[in-house]
Amino acid sequence: CGIVGYIGKRDSKDILIEGLKKLEYRGYDSAGIAVFTGNGLEIRKSKGRLAVLEEKLQGEPICGSVGIGHTRWATHGKPSDVNSHPHTDNSSKFSVVHNGIIENYLELREELSIAGHKFVSETDTEVISHLIASVYEGDIVKAVQQAVKRMRGAFALGVLTEYEPDRLVAVRYASPLVIGIGEGENFIGSDIPAILEHTRDVYILNDGEMAILTADHVELLTISGENISKEIFHVDWDL
Ligand code: GLU
Repeated sequence: CGIVGYIGKRDSKDILIEGLKKLEYRGYDSAGIAVFTGNGLEIRKSKGRLAVLEEKLQGEPICGSVGIGHTRWATHGKPSDVNSHPHTDNSSKFSVVHNGIIENYLELREELSIAGHKFVSETDTEVISHLIASVYEGDIVKAVQQAVKRMRGAFALGVLTEYEPDRLVAVRYASPLVIGIGEGENFIGSDIPAILEHTRDVYILNDGEMAILTADHVELLTISGENISKEIFHVDWDL
């Protein structure tokens, strides 16, 4: 299970796929990516090896300079195309990749279902994208903070919304996540190897911390909204 994300000026697809390959050692049963294209937020995902996803991408290419990717180790819901990440909401305007477990997902799913949300997968993760969509009022950072307050369990998240295509939001709570700092581009990854090809300067998030990435800037906050500053960790080893 692993997460990668890219925001910059290059095409994101290969960066995401190559990053996910570096996380293969963690084990996975499915893989997927979401990328902003001229048609909005597009998702390609499938059960099986990354090669299966790559084959799908050849038939249905996507191109864009902002994206998130995921390899899944199923905890809730069998390995299947539908249960693969990224997950979205009924408006398809939000996209989420998640490592970890949402312990209270049944309760959240019930509450959101009563409010009219329709779920398509069996995962715990799908409640996150619906929850974010349900509290969204024009600021994805605030929406993620509100959603996270409702979630119990373990999560590393990468979140995109079509409403704010120049921002990528990352959160860590009890699942690992690092931020890679580039020039005119920034990255997220479950682990340093996923991004090491592109940068040696990283922020290592601690539990309860989040990052807002644009192509040119990384802002660090706590999940309750306080600004934090952190030393850049310079990676001086090679893979
Ligand atoms: N609990 C989530 C799922 O089963 C995420 C699993 C993971 O960490 O890959 O879809």
